[in-house]
Amino acid sequence: MPEGLIVKALSGFYYVQSEGALIQCRGRGVFRKRKQTPLVGDYVEFEAENETDGYVMAIKERKNQLNRPPIANVDQAILVFSAKEPDFHTLLLDRFLVHIEQHDIKPVLIISKTDLLEASERDALTRQVAMYEQIGYPVLYTSTKQADDPSELLPLLANQVSVIAGQSGVGKSSLLNALAPEAKIETNEISRHLGRGRHTTRHTELLPIGEGLVADTPGFSSLEFTDMEAEDLRFCFPEFLSLMDDCKFRGCLHDKEPKCAIKDAVETGEVDSFRYKHYLQFLHEIQDQKRRY
Ligand code: GDP
Ligand code: ZN
Repeated sequence: MPEGLIVKALSGFYYVQSEGALIQCRGRGVFRKRKQTPLVGDYVEFEAENETDGYVMAIKERKNQLNRPPIANVDQAILVFSAKEPDFHTLLLDRFLVHIEQHDIKPVLIISKTDLLEASERDALTRQVAMYEQIGYPVLYTSTKQADDPSELLPLLANQVSVIAGQSGVGKSSLLNALAPEAKIETNEISRHLGRGRHTTRHTELLPIGEGLVADTPGFSSLEFTDMEAEDLRFCFPEFLSLMDDCKFRGCLHDKEPKCAIKDAVETGEVDSFRYKHYLQFLHEIQDQKRRY
């Protein structure tokens, strides 16, 4: 049976890309019975009725799944933070990173709008961002106005299914438009001009950008920790992983426990104190939530 990738789901149809062709498919009743819905990003087997239409017959096992927006098998998240307007914000960045880690997705951090920085501001920001590079996150500086050519992102997108994430107004759509003008992604300027809110519900589609596919709706639209256990949070901070075997207590949450290797590492500067502070803030948020329900 032929196989393909669902790149768009709309009005009960699944658009399956297979060997350069786009086949408009309906789902089989069997999905409804099993309460299983094909998602954009699903690899599927389909039966072709003719050259343009067919039926999705089976969904391959998913690597991961996001709910908002609904999309499966995401390889990486392009996390866009502007250098200015809005200002760079590490608490929010860490919150996004935890959600991305939780779904086993690779993050790529983009610092956008670098044209808005004075040289001295750029130095300060570079020092702040270097800490994330040390943790192992790839970082790219971009601007759609000058310098810092966004096309450096293209090789990172190749052969990957990506979502783009970040606050409204950081320049996500401008970035994608700079890379693929033919995609004509709606920017904030245009939607404001049309008097249309940005939060109108629309379908999600995987758009070809360079050699890769990028979801056209921003990922991680909710940043609450509703489906996370306190015990899981520490695994979302990669710089903790090699250290935490040295904590005295197995299952140490690196909070009030004595002889904690993470707290020691914060003292020596091996773990960044702001990252640790954010870790504690998220931990307490999760614990408070559990107490309330
Ligand atoms: P989105 O909400 O993240 O998709 O952001 P948009 O792409 O709609 O951009 C928001 C605003 O930032 C718009 O007014 C853009 O013109 C502006 N913008 C986007 N990229 C840049 C950039 O590299 N430099 C500057 N100075 N402004 C930018
Ligand atoms: Zn500990």
